[in-house]
Amino acid sequence: MNVLVTGGAGYIGSHACVELLNAGHSVVVADNLANANAECLRRVERITGKTLEFREMDLLDRAALNELFDTHRFDCVLHFAGLKAVGESVQQPLRYYNNNLGTTIHLCQTMAAHGVKKILFSSSATVYSPDNAMPVKESARTGGCTNPYGWTKYMSEQILTDTAKADPGWTVMLLRYFNPVGAHPSGLIGEDPRGIPNNLMPYISQTAAGRREKLSVFGGDYPTPDGTGVRDYLHVVDLARGHVAAMDYMAGHPGVHVFNLGTGRGYSVLDMVHAFEAATGKRVPYVIAPRRAGDVAEVYCDPAKAERELGWKAEYSLEDMCRDSWNWQSKNPNGFAAD
Ligand code: NAD
Ligand code: UDP
Repeated sequence: MNVLVTGGAGYIGSHACVELLNAGHSVVVADNLANANAECLRRVERITGKTLEFREMDLLDRAALNELFDTHRFDCVLHFAGLKAVGESVQQPLRYYNNNLGTTIHLCQTMAAHGVKKILFSSSATVYSPDNAMPVKESARTGGCTNPYGWTKYMSEQILTDTAKADPGWTVMLLRYFNPVGAHPSGLIGEDPRGIPNNLMPYISQTAAGRREKLSVFGGDYPTPDGTGVRDYLHVVDLARGHVAAMDYMAGHPGVHVFNLGTGRGYSVLDMVHAFEAATGKRVPYVIAPRRAGDVAEVYCDPAKAERELGWKAEYSLEDMCRDSWNWQSKNPNGFAAD
């Protein structure tokens, strides 16, 4: 298939490009490099031995988007592009709503005008109400988001759902990711956060590398086995493969489909620290710090629907996630910038 990957130069999108190229699809990436480096795509080509087309463009630029669809015949769009920093979204809500909703709306309008009606959307566990019992199934309550980033995911799901309701020619896959971590086993691509990482795994890797003095564990008094927050971490390569499975599923399944992509297992912050130390032999100094605003005690999914209907299930272990994070971090201490 001819696939457009928006945000394909980013962390998850680049890993998806690898899996799409390996599966024989042809790939065009549209990314404005707001949070990415074009070197990442050269490395995707190195890993796969295949080429892709890169368009450096902002999806908010209607003329550029239109020209892209005028000059290509896409079968399907994987829509990863978006801003994703939770704290920043609280400080800059209008920028987040404008970018994350604007890109989704422009993209769908342009797709419809060109008769392209298959889209996979990067949604998140954050759309689930914080008061759901764990593990969450796709049918659990959504809403009650605690920050503008979460609301952009919730609203984008609604926009896509209404679009498919109005025109049954659409096929929409709402993929709710849990906590992607790790990197491609080659060590050539991985997560390259700018500045101080917000997320746990890059913070752990940078602490192990000596770039950060110690990890602050946000909260030691949650009602969890060791008092620290529990999340459903999954290897980014498994997540990328979930997209290929979801794309295959779209044929013959019009309408809107929601899938959790996670492992179904919860690990605490301290489990992650200890697993990282065991897998890498590096020490990760930490202190227990106050809770982070907006965090909940535990989030993990029931991934049974994806296994049953997509034939997809996460294969990589926690040890693999830690080893591959460290492999990427140690081979690329400054991310892609060094090149
Ligand atoms: P990322 O920041 O690495 O990738 C997003 C990409 O989108 C970047 O390359 C950025 O340059 C691009 N982009 C942003 N706005 C754009 C615009 N207006 N036009 C063109 N390109 C634009 O993030 P990621 O971790 O790879 O996440 C990919 C998607 O998955 C995002 O939508 C994110 O919200 C969602 N998601 C991520 C996680 C996670 O933990 N990483 C969890 C759940 C959902
Ligand atoms: N966390 C932490 N210290 C950090 C970053 C994160 O203790 O420097 C914790 C956080 O409170 C949560 C878990 O690690 O319990 C995962 O956080 P992350 O930001 O990676 O993902 P989230 O689940 O919030 O999307």
